[in-house]
Formats: sequence, structure tokens, C-alpha cells
Amino acid sequence: NSRIVLASRPVGAPTPDNFRLEDIEIPVPADGEVLLRSVYLSLDPYMRGRMSDAKSYADPVAVDDVMVGATVCQVVESNNPEFEIGEWVLAYTGWQSYGISDGEGLLKLGKQPTAPSYALGIMGMPGFTAYMGLLDIGQPKQGDTLVVAAATGPVGATVGQIGKIKGCRVIGVAGGEEKCRYAKEVLGFDECIDHKAADFEQQLQAVCDKGIDVYFENVGGKVFDAVLPLLNTGARVPVCGLISQYNATSLPDGPDRLSMLMGTLLIKRIKMQGFIIFDDYAHRYNEFAQDMSQWLAEGKIQYREHLVQGLDKAPEAFIGLLEGKNFGKLVIQVNQP
Ligand code: NDP
Repeated sequence: NSRIVLASRPVGAPTPDNFRLEDIEIPVPADGEVLLRSVYLSLDPYMRGRMSDAKSYADPVAVDDVMVGATVCQVVESNNPEFEIGEWVLAYTGWQSYGISDGEGLLKLGKQPTAPSYALGIMGMPGFTAYMGLLDIGQPKQGDTLVVAAATGPVGATVGQIGKIKGCRVIGVAGGEEKCRYAKEVLGFDECIDHKAADFEQQLQAVCDKGIDVYFENVGGKVFDAVLPLLNTGARVPVCGLISQYNATSLPDGPDRLSMLMGTLLIKRIKMQGFIIFDDYAHRYNEFAQDMSQWLAEGKIQYREHLVQGLDKAPEAFIGLLEGKNFGKLVIQVNQP
């Protein structure tokens, strides 16, 4: 049984030294508790925030504590009448191969779920984030131009595909040619621009010839700078994530852009709104689950996973996530089912 703890807080980009792999005894469940064996661990950008002690919407992980994270587990011992051995659950046991739970907060996935890891991605937090952020805040309308970056990740890919279902012209932004090709050929985006291209700004402007009606913000930084002058009057900007800044240790170089941002918001009456998915929308999960299951069954939504074998590979995979090395939803296979 092993686990990965936060060894030290990163300054800038995390490094392998910030994590420590430890061998520990398999815990013993007390009365009312279950022993969970992790099969899949989700790695997500928000974990960078938990490694830092800067004030945020959730508490940081303490140094020497196990890294937090959602997992898909099997019940292997049960002292709780609500759970049977062999059942699959969505849990929050973190970066470790076994965890204990009193049952609170576990979501049952059944005895033989067809795609258990989907609970960490398209049917779980990232899919739900894409759905609520786009539909509730973005308010996409037929014929709108929708732009989304991190376009092949679980949030961005889902935002763009829901945008297509709603009749938008969808422009993705992704890192590299292969991801851009995938966004167009498999996800069905109308265009996808490589943010690493030297003329990225010009390329984005060229494909957004009618401006931008909805910009789903996943990354911030230079993508946002390129988008801002293209926003149309009445545009909506759901602010979901700012991954380009998660490793930043100082403000970006160059002139202060705040007055330009405020001026654009005012003159173009733009609605820009942040959200934290479970804090704001937990009560609407069923609505999402119903629509998404149907879209998946009808083949309207494609979903790609980037599966990495072994808990010991989690630090490297996580560091890569912040650099765009993942291609699809990053999931660690902790144990075989
Ligand atoms: P992804 O799997 O898409 O991973 C992150 C991707 O971001 C990378 O693969 C990379 O893609 C892109 N990226 C990284 N650095 C940069 C950069 N400097 N400039 C441009 N792109 C960059 O992650 P998710 O789909 O899980 O998450 C997407 C966003 O949604 C994140 O910002 C996350 O924090 C946020 N989020 C917010 C939630 C909320 O409740 N508000 C809930 C869930 C997620 P590429 O190679 O294409 O550049």
C-alpha cells in the first residue's frame, strides 16, 4: 500500500521534490467504515492550488499530508450495511492505493459499471463544469461564435462539443498541431488554433471574422489577451480556470491591462462571471447527468482519456498536466480492478 504526500510547497512550477512516495500499512476499517481500494485517481489542475498556502476557495493540503483527489474505488471490506464488497464508488481518497470512508460523500457506481473512470471525467466534475459554465453563464445561441482553450482537455473538449449541439460556430485553442487536428476531426470543432504558433493572435482574429460571442475562459494569459479585442457587444465570458497562471510567481510583464479590460466590459456590456462547480451548481448535477448520458449514447460527445499506469507516476504526470503534456483527461490507474 502506498501513498503520495506533499513533501514541500512549490515555488513556481511543481517539481518531483515537492512529492514523496511512502509505503504504509493497509488501514483497517472501524465499525461503520469501509475499506476502499483505488482503481483510478483523477489528476486535475485545481490540485496546484491545494499545494500552495495562498488563500483560495478551499483549504490547502498540509505539508506531509496525502495529496487530495477524486478516485474511483472498489469496496474491499465493509463494516457499513450500506455498502457491499465488490461495489464501485466515486470517492475522494486522494493519491493513495487504499482509503477508509464512513460512507459519507461516496457516490455509488454499481457492481459492474461499464466505464467506471468516466465518473472522474465526462460524467463527473470536468464534464459537469463544462455543461454548467457554458449553458448557465455562457448562454450560447444558435449561430454564436464560441471560443474555448485547452480544447482537447476534459473541460474544453466538452464545452466545444456542447457548443456544436447548441448550434454555435466553435473555435478551439490548443497546444500543437496534433491536438488541433483532433479538435477538428474528432470533436467536430470548426477551427482550432495552436497557441504556440508565432502568429497565434492573427490566426485567431482571422477565424473570428464575426467576433466572439462566448469565450469560455480556461487558461488566461496570452489567450485572453488575444480574445479581449475580439469580443462582441453583449458577449458572455464564463471564467472557469486560469491555468497559464497557476505556476506564476509574479504578475505578467508588460503594461497594466486592467483599464483596457474594464473599458471593454463597459463599452461592450460584457458579462464575465467566475464559478466553482460544486459550490455553485451541486443541486443541478442530475440535469447534467441526464443530458450527458443521452449525448454519449447518441454518439454526440466524444471523450478521450490519457491513462497513466501506476501511482508512482502521478507526480510526473501532474507536472506535465500544467505544461500541456496530457492529451485528454488525465487519469492514473492505481490498481487493476
Ligand atoms: P486539461 O486536461 O485541459 O489540462 C490543462 C490543459 O491546459 C493542458 O493540457 C494545456 O493544453 C492547457 N494549458 C496549460 N498551460 C497553458 C498555457 N500557459 N496556455 C494555454 N494553455 C495551457 O484540464 P481540465 O479540462 O481539467 O481543466 C481546464 C480548466 O478548467 C483549468 O483551468 C481548470 O482549473 C478549470 N476547472 C475549473 C473548475 C471550476 O469549478 N471553476 C472545475 C474544473 C476545472 P494545451 O496543450 O492544449 O495548451
